[in-house]
Amino acid sequence: MKAVVYKEPFKVAVEEVPDPRMEHPNDVIVRVTSTAICGSDLHMYEGRTAAEPGIVFGHENMGIVEEVGDGVTSIRQGDRVVMPFNVACGFCKNCVAGYTGFCLTVNPGFAGGAYGYVAMGPFIGGQAERLRVPYADFNCLKLPPGDEHETDFILLADIFPTGYHGCELAQVSPGESVAVYGGGPVGLMAAYSALLRGASKVFVVDRVAERLQKAEQIGAIPINFTERNPAEQIKEQTGGEGPDKGVDAVGYQAQAHTEEREEPAIVLNSLIDTVRPTAMLGIPGLYVPADPGAPDESAKRGQLLVSVGRAFEKGLRLGTGQCNVKRYNRQLRDLIIEDRAKPSFVVSHELPLDQAPMAYEKFDKRVEGYTKVILHPQG
Ligand code: ZN
Ligand code: ZN
Repeated sequence: MKAVVYKEPFKVAVEEVPDPRMEHPNDVIVRVTSTAICGSDLHMYEGRTAAEPGIVFGHENMGIVEEVGDGVTSIRQGDRVVMPFNVACGFCKNCVAGYTGFCLTVNPGFAGGAYGYVAMGPFIGGQAERLRVPYADFNCLKLPPGDEHETDFILLADIFPTGYHGCELAQVSPGESVAVYGGGPVGLMAAYSALLRGASKVFVVDRVAERLQKAEQIGAIPINFTERNPAEQIKEQTGGEGPDKGVDAVGYQAQAHTEEREEPAIVLNSLIDTVRPTAMLGIPGLYVPADPGAPDESAKRGQLLVSVGRAFEKGLRLGTGQCNVKRYNRQLRDLIIEDRAKPSFVVSHELPLDQAPMAYEKFDKRVEGYTKVILHPQG
């Protein structure tokens, strides 16, 4: 089958790789109809991880079930399904508690598994014609047959639940004000989720005009951090005290406010500054325990200069970690089915798999409006 294969920093190729095979009676094989490129794929693409050449990318996948193992009971051939990017067993302590992003059995020595991602286990990515899904009863979410809402449903694999998770970590409640740092796909999904949860006022902080426009389009208030200190801009619009909740949808590759350089702790520190005392922060933005590409020695070891004293003084509470997609994907699917949510407004391009090398290059450079790309392996 054809698949997107990592070759070297800043280079992927579409190549022939072996078809996935059934490895266990609980597996299914899915013919991939949609698979998305994610901002976190760029960490590997840019060579900032230990990803080895030859890895097949793709953790945001949906398609039609083609083969079903004898041990699978709820999924049938021909079912249309979307898979959480987390690969999870369903029976370990963390899975049972709903923390499927931290499954203890699928990736020995590490809490959590994912398709096509360095250090996240042996699971081959879905930017390919076919995908093997382990523990299929647990990891497949069934969708209505046909092709309706395809571009909305693919976002259930990661970014819609991940944005929602940011709001859940911050416990965003009706009537509250929320500052979302980052207007990329996850930040926009966090802002959208805050509005779905009944927030009264949602701010989206970024500097890219198209992102700020999209934020405004969904009813959020755009804040351009290059114009003036974003914390001040937001405080002015929340009675001087700051919003009730904050979401960090940027992570460690954050950019300094006034110049073109990375400043890994700037979003955390800005959020601590922005929100009102006793606020809660949700941090779904990615931070890593080591980053060879970081701008200073301590950041290379994953240690950032965060204003802990200020956070303590304000009595802030914070929640971190990757999204447990399965905790939200069913409910978010039903909002899509009932036309109460339409997350596909973040999708900028839909392309055949063959065009992945070009799409990666343009998405990485953030040119020509490449913000969220969906690949269709079946043409
Ligand atoms: Zn993703
Ligand atoms: Zn588990």
